[in-house]
Amino acid sequence: MSNAAPSSPSGAPPADWHADTIVLHAGYNGHDHQRSAAVPIYQTTSFLFENAQQGAGLFDLEEEGHIYARTGNPTQSVLEERIAQLEGGTAALAVASGMAAIDMAIATLAQTGDHVVVASQLYGGTHNLIAHVLKARGITSTLVHRGGLANLHSVFTQQTKAVFVESVANPSGHVADLATIAEQAHAHGIAVIVDNTSATPLLLRPFDHGADVVVHSATKYISGHGTTIGGLIVDGGRFDWATRRVRYPQFSAPEPAFHDFVITEKFPDFPFVARTRTVVLRNSGASLAALSSFLLLQGLETLALRLDRISSNTREVLDFLVQHPLVSRVSHVTLPTHPDHAHARRYLRGKLVPGLISFELYGGREAARRFYDALALFQRLVNIGDSKSLAAIPAETTHHLLGDDELQRAGISAGLVRQSIGIEHPDDLIADLRQALQHSEPVHTASQRNTSKTLVLEKHP
Ligand code: PLP
Repeated sequence: MSNAAPSSPSGAPPADWHADTIVLHAGYNGHDHQRSAAVPIYQTTSFLFENAQQGAGLFDLEEEGHIYARTGNPTQSVLEERIAQLEGGTAALAVASGMAAIDMAIATLAQTGDHVVVASQLYGGTHNLIAHVLKARGITSTLVHRGGLANLHSVFTQQTKAVFVESVANPSGHVADLATIAEQAHAHGIAVIVDNTSATPLLLRPFDHGADVVVHSATKYISGHGTTIGGLIVDGGRFDWATRRVRYPQFSAPEPAFHDFVITEKFPDFPFVARTRTVVLRNSGASLAALSSFLLLQGLETLALRLDRISSNTREVLDFLVQHPLVSRVSHVTLPTHPDHAHARRYLRGKLVPGLISFELYGGREAARRFYDALALFQRLVNIGDSKSLAAIPAETTHHLLGDDELQRAGISAGLVRQSIGIEHPDDLIADLRQALQHSEPVHTASQRNTSKTLVLEKHP
């Protein structure tokens, strides 16, 4: 295994690089890698020891370097360094999937008998993990609806180990009031974990608003090519785990699962990621393969360009949908009547906007299904953040394990369609939507259409 240090193969990066540059250059110097201009794929399980002393030194963390690829390899290290810099964190850890990142981040903090507080607007898989799988492990959770996030004090207990929220929720697009959430959690000495998958650090940097740990499904916008599953955990480096030793003894007591090291003493700058790597990942083994790390790096290189195009396409698609007579509701934070419009203005950086659009049709679930089946360019699948435009019906797919109440709390109706806007030409996207919407109607009379149109203008959020 490698030690817990985040690698920085090129040494200290210039502090003032923009995100567009970080995604291409941070954490890599080809002169240290056989002069390879591209980041090489280190397709190896293990790394050689010069001698017995070096082997022992690496295991004792007296020497920095990789040992065994279950806990890291040099290709992965470049990805980790780039993400840590993009998020403004002190270190990152790449793992096998977004779910692995979420599961491991929670496992770093909570065990049997503990409690987590979770926002109800969540990706369905995360909801399932927290409500059922963690419960079976003896970790209880309190699901808090959007309005309740401004008043968390009453739900915290002595055993609460984390607040978990999505910065921009999938699929509802709600933008969390991170500063308010962090302020309340920190008043009780509780850490905040933010899933920043749908936003990416180019739209929103949770550490700037008080988050302590950021997780990602790298499968989505970071990859952008729909080729690779991966996850990331980023350490904000600011939470004082040592002072909070009653709530988090695992950071300041000798760790039996890792040579009795005291994590905050050994890794003062990035204790969270150090503990996740050395204790959780090392034993769960949900590692990211070198080839996957390489593919994610290829995707990451064009993140800024893709998000630019995704944003402008999203605006065009929104313009089209809000005016369409068959569309009863469109949900996107750029719309002034969206409940989180003010949060979006506060938290989203620059001109980029999230690429997820949710909408409903007057014809409900049946119309949504007819529309969905008629799509010719949008791909019917469950993923988001691809360069290609995608569509899903969450209640029947990504969120099908949620009960009716849970769906309602997550803001998902039976006929809700979620679109992840890609980088195709906007005219082609709109042409596809137009023809699919035509197919969503059974047989409508002109008068019924006119009624619909009036309703759209009134009911549009
Ligand atoms: N977080 C969010 C917001 C997601 O949308 C997803 C997957 O859709 C995940 C986490 C899980 O990621 P992965 O599929 O890489 O395990």
